This record gives sequence, structure tokens and C-alpha cells, in this order.
Amino acid sequence: MALRNIVKINSESESVLYKKTRIVEKFDAKLKQLAEDMIETMHAANGVGLAAPQVGLLKRMFVMNVDVEEGDLVVINPEISEMEGESIAYEGCLSYPQMFGKVKRPFKLKLKYHDLNGEVREIEAEGLKARCICHETDHLYGIMFTEKLIGNLVHESQLAEDEEHSKG
Ligand SMILES: [Zn+2]
Repeated sequence: MALRNIVKINSESESVLYKKTRIVEKFDAKLKQLAEDMIETMHAANGVGLAAPQVGLLKRMFVMNVDVEEGDLVVINPEISEMEGESIAYEGCLSYPQMFGKVKRPFKLKLKYHDLNGEVREIEAEGLKARCICHETDHLYGIMFTEKLIGNLVHESQLAEDEEHSKG
């Protein structure tokens, strides 16, 4: 396994963050290696999610970990449906260090995706997990959370300790 560099805004390579990804069609050993690297990189950066463009690749996939019991999840070619309710909370991004902003996301959703073996899977998610799925899926279409802000960006030092804030 190897740590990958996370692409940050205002860096030379930031343009990859604003591009649409390509559907993954080859479920091979190379893809598994990439998923392992992304998981390691996400944990090293204390994130709850990481999308392929954030490591410089235009592949339609992300990794996430918001649920201790479930552990790491690799999501390939995601399709979100049946969104319900709404939730407004602070979120941040590993490509946008130390800044957080409030974003409205659905409270609940259904997600259909491919796993690493190319099998179709379907899950339901709510709360933080639904938020993370939306944030990471946006990355796959070149959309940063800062395009959806309610109010201003704030530095993490200004957030109350008990304020929920995740970064992905
Ligand atoms: Zn992000």
C-alpha cells in the first residue's frame, strides 16, 4: 500500500477537481490497489471519505468510512436515488484544508454502486453517511462543496467543539 498525494485547491494540479470522471469498467488488481491506497490516504488525513479526483484520477469511484461497524467502503460508479428529508451541517474537504461550511444535504437516500468485483450493490444511508455519499459523488462530477455553501466558510478553529463537522 502507498499513500497518494491529495490534490488541494489553489495548487498546480487543482483542475482535476473540476472535471467529470469516467465510468469504471475494469475491475482488476490495479483497481483494488488504487482502492487500498485511497483508503490508507483517507485515514492518514483523518477524512471520512476520499474521491478519485482528489488523488488526481478521473475515475468514478470513492472510498468512505463513517460507520465503525461497517468499516471501509469502496463505492464505484455510484447512483443516488430516493432522496428524502434534509439536513444542514458543517462539512469540509480534504482538498480544501481547515475550512468548513454549512451545506444542505438529503437526510436519507438510496445508493446503487459497483463493488471492487464489479457486483451491483444497493444500500440505504442516512445522516452523516448520506452526507458523505453526496459530497463524494459531487467530487465525481467536478463539484466542490464550496459551490453549495449556506453562509460563509469558517476556519476549523472557529467551530464549536461539539459541532458536527466531517471532511471528505
Ligand atoms: Zn471533498
